[in-house]
Amino acid sequence: MLGPNLRSIRSRHSGTAIFKWRCSLFPTSGGFVPPGTTAVEKRAIAATVPVWKSENCTQCNICSFVCPHAAIRPFLAEASELQGGPGGYTTLQAKGAGLEGFKYRMQVSPYDCTGCQLCVVACPDDALQAKPIEQVLTIEDTHW
Ligand code: SF4
Ligand code: SF4
Repeated sequence: MLGPNLRSIRSRHSGTAIFKWRCSLFPTSGGFVPPGTTAVEKRAIAATVPVWKSENCTQCNICSFVCPHAAIRPFLAEASELQGGPGGYTTLQAKGAGLEGFKYRMQVSPYDCTGCQLCVVACPDDALQAKPIEQVLTIEDTHW
């Protein structure tokens, strides 16, 4: 997993920590960085991130289709899987044949979103609202 240097690099919230990298903290010599670190890179670079307005959503999934970073995704869950979940985790009854036993939610990953707002513009039903990341980062990350 990431060492302290890479954890500082990946977060814009690291503040002055970015100036505190120490070569001695890198685990190997020779300038080697492990491959595949983008899979765990979470930067929260967006100024605003979309928040789902469930009351308007028709479950068309267009928002997820247009996102270049797969940062907003539809989720299906059985009611039993939602027990004990975080507060405010709103769901809808899922639409579609064979989905009678499932709840539906559209959820953004605030750490992966770039704030491009493609999904907000593409949504045909005004079901996504861009909000300042400072207001929603913690709760939306919990929901993700
Ligand atoms: S594009 Fe809008 S209406 Fe369609 S699933 Fe996404 S949020 Fe819901
Ligand atoms: S704002 Fe852009 S990056 Fe973020 S979820 Fe929407 S389409 Fe994806």
